[in-house]
Amino acid sequence: MMALAGYPLGLHCQFLDRSADAPGAQVAPILLGELDDPARLTELATASDVVTFDWENLPGTALAPLETLTMIRPPRQALEVSQDRLAEKALFSRLKIPVAPHAAVGTREDLVRAARRLGCPGVLKTRRMGYDGKGQFVLRHPGQIDAAWAAIGGAGLIYEKFQDFSREVSMIGARSAAREIVYYPLSSNSHAGGILRYGVAPYVNVALERAARRCLRRVMETLGYVGVLTVEFFVVGGRLIANEMAPRVHNSGHWTIDGSVTSQFENHLRAICDLPLGSTRPVGHTAMINFLGRMPVRERLLAIDGLAYHDYGKAPRPGRKLGHCTIVRRTARERNQALQQALELIEWT
Ligand code: AMP
Repeated sequence: MMALAGYPLGLHCQFLDRSADAPGAQVAPILLGELDDPARLTELATASDVVTFDWENLPGTALAPLETLTMIRPPRQALEVSQDRLAEKALFSRLKIPVAPHAAVGTREDLVRAARRLGCPGVLKTRRMGYDGKGQFVLRHPGQIDAAWAAIGGAGLIYEKFQDFSREVSMIGARSAAREIVYYPLSSNSHAGGILRYGVAPYVNVALERAARRCLRRVMETLGYVGVLTVEFFVVGGRLIANEMAPRVHNSGHWTIDGSVTSQFENHLRAICDLPLGSTRPVGHTAMINFLGRMPVRERLLAIDGLAYHDYGKAPRPGRKLGHCTIVRRTARERNQALQQALELIEWT
């Protein structure tokens, strides 16, 4: 999606990925190798005006030597903070962005103490390498401590108080090196099993939108950020609680391809290539639905008026994000009706 956004601007992407059938390889040249392979990274950096990433679990130490060869955007520090849930929460707290009460857990005894102090239910998570609900255990009562420890126990965990949220929202924005910032409208996101299933945008709530923008701006300015940044929030009692940040284009922003004047992919490229940022204005009321585990029957979905279909060309696997579709309507009501119609045609596995 990044490469496809680049071509009309005359920008050409080259990718580094582990497998030859990575989606990027279908639309741009690819280097094959591990994401921390110094030789491959050097090859990529030498051939590129700027290097970016769309996955945050690559080691910052591997990127460090490239900084003398080319520009790395967003900055490595943003990548490193986002890789560790504890560091991320420390940054949010330092910037007076509310987070769920939490404790670092390194031993089973730490977990017992954390569950006693913060109470149950709570979520035990790995600090690193967790995404799409991976590396998480919901502790409903203290009797589950052994089960939680057996499932993901070890050093490097965090225990968070469970947030009884009314909804989950995300704020996506882009910042240029010239310090220009643009914000997309809030999107409201529905997850199951820790994976995003569908989302709608704009989620209209003036107070929350203002608060979310403020959070995003603080993080961007503190990190000297360049590129697209996402912060995901829980809405609890009408207030935002920051869950996590992603220093990259984000699944909850895929709606922007069809639903806003400039997509998040294009704005990421514009930001990292020192081009003026594009308008984030929504062109209507949008719903985005992920295809998880298996592709839907294409013909049936395409029969929905104006539906945009995005197949990533990936091999199906349970829980894997294989594509998405987007529907844009003039009003939120019409959008919600079309969303229901589309949801009936999609099965998540
Ligand atoms: P994460 O990997 O932190 O984004 O978590 C994935 C999903 O799990 C979130 O989008 C929520 O739906 C749920 N979740 C994570 N942490 C919590 C929490 N502290 N309280 C309630 N739900 C949570």
